[in-house]
Parts: sequence; C-alpha cells; structure tokens
Amino acid sequence: MIAVAALLGVLTWTLLEYLIHRWMGHDRRYRKTPFGVEHVRHHIEGDYFAPTWKKLIIAAVAIAILCVPATAIASTTLGVAYVLGLIGFYGVYEVIHRLDHTRPGIGPYGRWSRRHHFHHHFVDARVNHGVTSPIWDLVFGTYVKPTIIKVPPKLCMPWLKDPATGGIREAHADTFVLADPPR
Ligand SMILES: [Zn+2]
Ligand SMILES: [Zn+2]
Repeated sequence: MIAVAALLGVLTWTLLEYLIHRWMGHDRRYRKTPFGVEHVRHHIEGDYFAPTWKKLIIAAVAIAILCVPATAIASTTLGVAYVLGLIGFYGVYEVIHRLDHTRPGIGPYGRWSRRHHFHHHFVDARVNHGVTSPIWDLVFGTYVKPTIIKVPPKLCMPWLKDPATGGIREAHADTFVLADPPR
C-alpha cells in the first residue's frame, strides 16, 4: 500500500507539472504571477532557470500544506508516502528538465524527452507541456509528435552545437536544424 500511495503521489506530480506549466507558464492571465515571470524568462533566455532556493522554499511549504489533508484522508504513513512520492518526483522533474537543456540525452528516453521539450520551446509553446511524460498532453489533446525542430542559433543548447562547425552535431541532425545555419 505504501508503494501505491507513493505512486499516486508521482502521478499527481505529473498532472501538476502539466497544469502549472500550461496555465501558470503560458496563459496570458497568469503571466504576471511569480511562476509566469520566471517561465517567460526561461523561454526567452533558454539557459535561465529559476533560483534553487526559491524552489526549495516552495517544495518545503508544499510538503507542510499537503501533509495535512493527505494524512487526514489516509493514515499518517500512507499520507506521508503520497506527499513524498509527489515531492520526490517533482525533484526528478527538476533534474530531467535541467539535463534536457544542459546535456545530450542517454538512450531512447533521453532522446524523446529532448525532442518533446524542445518542440515546446522552439516550434509551438501551446503543445507538449509535460516534461517527464506525455501522459497529460495525450489526455488533454496537446500532444504533438516532434518532427524537425528549428533552433534559433542564439538559444542553441551547448550539447547540440558542434564547436568545429558551429552547426548542429551530426548525431542530432535528423531532428534538430539551426533556424539560421552558419555559412
Ligand atoms: Zn513553457
Ligand atoms: Zn525548458
């Protein structure tokens, strides 16, 4: 039962990840909220991430708030397992998102998560809001299978760029192209 509660927490995070990103990050009505401001800056600068201390404070407050109803609805053990599953997978999301931007992916998942996320960044910010999974994009009809992703040279991720040519590395040339390739 503890594993089920933790897994439910993980699933809840994937939904929150989708909802927070889609509405707080990309709905004009929420542009002025602290998350909206940070997210717009992440899109504009590409390598900007909100400060870790802000994230830690929010995570600590979320744990404190969520534990009250979770332990009231279920037992203390299951409630805490649920909250730890949720916040733990939030931490996983933070790592995956950071790695998407800073390192080439490992294996099929690494490749998939970069295509999915950079389609959102560079092709259409109205789709592919999930970062760790496509589940909620599929549920809410915002999933698009990425094809060729045109990357603006100024925002090109370090792992994608071939330092010798200034263009896209051979290994990623089937998915990524520079919007304005060097001559
Ligand atoms: Zn976004
Ligand atoms: Zn991003």
